[in-house]
Amino acid sequence: MYVSSFAAEMRREIDAIKADGLYKTERVITTPQDRSVSTVGPDRQSSALNFCANNYLGLANHPDIRAAAHAALDSHGLGMASVRFICGTSDLHIALEKTVSQFLEVDDTILYNSCFDANTGFFETLLGSEDAVISDQLNHASIIDGIRLSKAQRHRYPSGDMDALESCLKAADDCRRKVIATDGVFSMDGEIAKLADICDLAEKYGALVFVDDSHGLGVIGATGRGSAEHQGVLGRVDIFAGTFGKALGGGCGGFIAGRHEVVSLLRQRSRPYLFSNAMPPPIVASTLKAFELLVSEDWRLRHLKEVTARFRTEMTAHGFSLGGNEHPISPVMLGDARLAAQMSAALLEAGLYAVGFWYPVVPQGMARIRVQLSAAHTVADVDWAVDQFAAIGRRFGAIK
Ligand SMILES: *Cc1c(COP(=O)(O)O)cnc(C)c1O
Repeated sequence: MYVSSFAAEMRREIDAIKADGLYKTERVITTPQDRSVSTVGPDRQSSALNFCANNYLGLANHPDIRAAAHAALDSHGLGMASVRFICGTSDLHIALEKTVSQFLEVDDTILYNSCFDANTGFFETLLGSEDAVISDQLNHASIIDGIRLSKAQRHRYPSGDMDALESCLKAADDCRRKVIATDGVFSMDGEIAKLADICDLAEKYGALVFVDDSHGLGVIGATGRGSAEHQGVLGRVDIFAGTFGKALGGGCGGFIAGRHEVVSLLRQRSRPYLFSNAMPPPIVASTLKAFELLVSEDWRLRHLKEVTARFRTEMTAHGFSLGGNEHPISPVMLGDARLAAQMSAALLEAGLYAVGFWYPVVPQGMARIRVQLSAAHTVADVDWAVDQFAAIGRRFGAIK
């Protein structure tokens, strides 16, 4: 009786989510993450070209990535069954930490099971009540939660508003440590953070710069080093966070990288590191391989740039308005939520998988279909996708 009243309460909550049109369902994929995927819907099985994965370099199902995972499974087994500091540190973990440090040109790196974990472990460890965090309003949920766990003073500025950031820095002037926290790339808009300006302000006010570059690593910058390389400030960013679950193979895992002292303190005190199992060796090994492939198959970065530019140019020529700029996240701005919902359904029907977003995920009246390009796409795939958008956009009156 007691239990059933709980269940009834939760059912009401779920019904309210449904009534608001916000209930999320999950499409079931039966093939590896790749250029195209097969899905089972409620009614039928279908295959679609995939324009909504974070598989930016097309490495998720790369034969060398799979081989590296198989080999590590044989040499190191499935999992460590231990946290890192008891008996969960393998030579592979050390190698990946070194690789990330070299890649980002910092002293040291600490691995977590996800970037979400990395962010929830970072702020609490480094910042107390005498400190301040200054955070971009559009930062990822894991940064927001990480900041919530710390006792630091909190300041928030409208995304990309450097004057507002400066006001926050002035307001936090008396604090012991000040950290400016930002996504390198904002995932709903594809906007790249203004890191050069942020680094200038940080220097002026004696703040540290923390960049979560989950969508930037392996994606932008001449050699894939991310938003800092793209803006010419590699070496001026104090702390990086990132994920291996996107461009770098798409498995899982995350990290914090920066100065020795920061990383050493995290190893001693950071709770998601101390009290959660070590990353599985097959994923560590395949992530190492992803870093190798980023260099040895450098055509992937160039091709990604090419298909992104082509999609943007052709869509704009058809009269669509696109958010973002140089990043493969290319939101097709539609404004109206119903239009975004109807068009994304029609596109999937035509075999193009891209997801619509509307309020409250994005602001009211700014509904969109978020397209993400990948090095797995061919130029012909992009042209085909643009044709689908054009035909369906005309049918629904989104373009003339
Ligand atoms: C995707 C993402 C994360 C979460 O990464 P996981 O490794 O999947 O937990 C964290 N921060 C940002 C900015 C992201 O885009």
